[in-house]
Amino acid sequence: MSDCLFCKIIKGDIPSQKIYEDDFVFGFKDLNPMAKIHHLFVHKEHTGNVNELVETSPKQLADVYLAISKFSKESDLEREGFRVVTNVGPNAGQTVFHTHFHVLGGERLGHFGS
Ligand code: 5GP
Ligand code: ZN
Repeated sequence: MSDCLFCKIIKGDIPSQKIYEDDFVFGFKDLNPMAKIHHLFVHKEHTGNVNELVETSPKQLADVYLAISKFSKESDLEREGFRVVTNVGPNAGQTVFHTHFHVLGGERLGHFGS
């Protein structure tokens, strides 16, 4: 999608701090971190949110979670623990409409849900 922020980041047209890449998935540091570690994992194929992603191709969900799994094993994240969050729509505060998965960790995380 030509006017999508995260598509531009994946292509390298907008700079980012890349922390992971494979054939299907791109991972980079969030610009406004909400925890000591706050990364975003996105599938290279554009969809607007996770519902659209699984309806387009459930394999994309596996691609993303495999990437997160690999990354967490290669860093301290798996041992220390981490959280994965994906926001959908206004009540969740979704602001970028290229499906993305927040990976949070590096410290004890607070409760969530409100
Ligand atoms: P959402 O609120 O849609 O779930 O998450 C969007 C995330 O993208 C936010 O955490 C925000 O900080 C991050 N973000 C927005 N613009 C940029 C950017 O240009 N670069 C990076 N690295 N992160 C961004
Ligand atoms: Zn996109």
